[in-house]
Amino acid sequence: QEALDTGLEKTKDSFFSKITKVIAGKSTVDDDVLDDLEEVLVTSDVGVQTTLKIIERIQARVARDKYVSTADLNGLLRDEIQQLLAENNSNDFSSFEYGTHKPYVIMVVGVNGVGKTTTIGKLANKLKQAGNKVVLGAADTFRAAAVDQIKLWGERVGVKVVAQAMGSDPASVAFDTLRSAVANGDDVAIIDTAGRLHNKVGLMNELTKIKNVMEKVVPGAPHEILLVLDASTGQNAIEQCKQFTEATAVNALALTKLDGTAKGGVVIGISDQFKIPVKYIGVGEGKDQLQLFDRKGFVDSLFK
Ligand code: GDP
Repeated sequence: QEALDTGLEKTKDSFFSKITKVIAGKSTVDDDVLDDLEEVLVTSDVGVQTTLKIIERIQARVARDKYVSTADLNGLLRDEIQQLLAENNSNDFSSFEYGTHKPYVIMVVGVNGVGKTTTIGKLANKLKQAGNKVVLGAADTFRAAAVDQIKLWGERVGVKVVAQAMGSDPASVAFDTLRSAVANGDDVAIIDTAGRLHNKVGLMNELTKIKNVMEKVVPGAPHEILLVLDASTGQNAIEQCKQFTEATAVNALALTKLDGTAKGGVVIGISDQFKIPVKYIGVGEGKDQLQLFDRKGFVDSLFK
């Protein structure tokens, strides 16, 4: 919780300084307050659609209770955000022990620069600490740097990396990685992919090909298609989420760089808009600075 509190400091500070301004000099939540609150949420990157939903719910509460003091507004907002997150994020993510499938296969997607490699490294570290045998697959063969970086993370956290030469077929790397995982009795295989978004059909075809190969080695794989998004890019993250969910069956999200940004509200908007659970959040560059998303902890940090 402490790391989370520190990580979300910027988001929290900007959010609350704005809300404090909204209610300054007012005693009750009226239409003016709601209009201003709407603006605060939109400028905190919660997203228009989700903001309207929250405002409508607060409006309904005000209509029902007749009188809501501005002093109660924080509590009300907190309840509504909790509720929204609860609708899309089951709290199944309580530990890094993934016993459901062996190997549990995670295919990681996302555009370059969002923190994909770092997230893979940090995740490998957390999984290993939780007692899992982990293997990484360097299937982003498009950039030499990507392969090197994954290898570096493998060394740093002490897990095996399966790689081929740059430019080789990503599906072939995925195949090798899962074969190795099965042969070694690994618990989790995490496979990087190239994040080129310039052509949606191309992206879709490439990801489908990699998925099909995985399925051949491990029936049911990939169990997790993890989209990594950079929270500090705010609305861009929402746009990327749209593109990737159209290209492949993303079923988990990682939001990175929450520590450096005031745009943490994007977590709420993305979770609501796409109905895909936020599973991991990145709160720093270090190998331990990845957390399983805990919606209660998240809201607690925002409203502390
Ligand atoms: P990739 O191109 O998507 O693989 O991105 P990288 O993993 O190379 O990360 C890009 C940059 O973002 C690097 O400098 C990382 O250290 C940094 N980064 C990744 N995750 C986080 C995070 O949660 N917080 C912070 N502050 N930096 C991060």
